[in-house]
Amino acid sequence: MSNPNTEIESFEVTDLNADYLKAWLEEDLDSIDEKTLYDLQQLISHYASIIVPNTNVKVEYPTSLDASACADTDKDIVFIPTSTLLEGELDHTIGLMIHELHHIKLSLKGSEISEICFYMINKVLKNTYVGNDDDGWESLFEVIQSNKAVTMADLRKVYEGQNQEPNPQENFYLKSIKGLAMLLNCVEDVRIDNMAQSNLKKYVDKGDALHAPHFIEKYNEGKFEERNIENTGYKFLFHHKHFLHDDYIDSTYPNLSDLLDSTPLEYIPVIFDIYKNEIKDFVLEQYDNQDMPTESSKGGNLDELLESEGEKDSKLNLSNDCEIPESEFVKSSNENNNADDKKAMREFRKEYEPQYIPITPTLADSIDVMGKVKIHTTTEELINHHSEDDFVEYSCVVYDDCA
Ligand SMILES: [Zn+2]
Repeated sequence: MSNPNTEIESFEVTDLNADYLKAWLEEDLDSIDEKTLYDLQQLISHYASIIVPNTNVKVEYPTSLDASACADTDKDIVFIPTSTLLEGELDHTIGLMIHELHHIKLSLKGSEISEICFYMINKVLKNTYVGNDDDGWESLFEVIQSNKAVTMADLRKVYEGQNQEPNPQENFYLKSIKGLAMLLNCVEDVRIDNMAQSNLKKYVDKGDALHAPHFIEKYNEGKFEERNIENTGYKFLFHHKHFLHDDYIDSTYPNLSDLLDSTPLEYIPVIFDIYKNEIKDFVLEQYDNQDMPTESSKGGNLDELLESEGEKDSKLNLSNDCEIPESEFVKSSNENNNADDKKAMREFRKEYEPQYIPITPTLADSIDVMGKVKIHTTTEELINHHSEDDFVEYSCVVYDDCA
């Protein structure tokens, strides 16, 4: 087994879980060699042309750590996860790719989701106050923005790699966006997997069946009882994928059909409103953890600043109608009260989320070459005697540069 910290030279695994893939291939499949990797890439590209026929989606193996940005719905490129291949889980790998292709087909782009979350975070900050009756109160939004104004345009520079060293305020926003996007992603995953054609969905179901037992085990041990954004997200996912019955999800979002009948722009405000307490707690926890200021530095016309960003009119501002109760910001005092439960979630996610460990350039080239060769098998008589031993069967590799 390759060390996950180094590039993968080869996949030395023989215990393959690949029944669906095998049915598609002509030959027997007993190892993951260059030919298997090529076939896998071809099959996924074939599915891509079915799922998103009007988009030229590139299907690639990760060859650098940059690829670990995984599916980039903004750029129509999907990377094949290598952690699942190291486990011999070929069908599951295909399932993950089918899932990502449906994101490209049905989901908002990552940049749009970040912007939607940005506005919701500001909504929380605008309704949370610091101060006292003598000196007056100000919202955390005023506080953070007066100390260092952060706009969506600033965050885009970080996402696009133009700013490699985000300041603490930007880091607060980035972390908060990640958490909210995770919740939305759990909901979206349920929606898109339900919408997959059944002959493709079988691959996705296989992956779910692989991971769900690990979640259910810890769920039954009570590890995910705390009401926080992460637990709610995964409970929503496994409840609506029918792996468990969760009373909280059942009482807050009982009807899967509501989700399946709506677009992301329609259901996101609903989800924000239903789970606003988890969202608020999470944002304020980040505010606390990241040591954000609790006093504004100077006055300024912040409304003007945000209006220039188009927040008020943006079609991505989906939190306008979400009512966040006004409250006072209290620095948290009970840290690590459930470190064990947090660890359980961390372990689950580590196992659940595929990794994109890069393959070596040499391996990438050999996979590539598979698309350019044809293998002809032939029998020739090499010597002029007529015994069986004189016949040699050999395979001839023809390099076809036009492929
Ligand atoms: Zn997903």
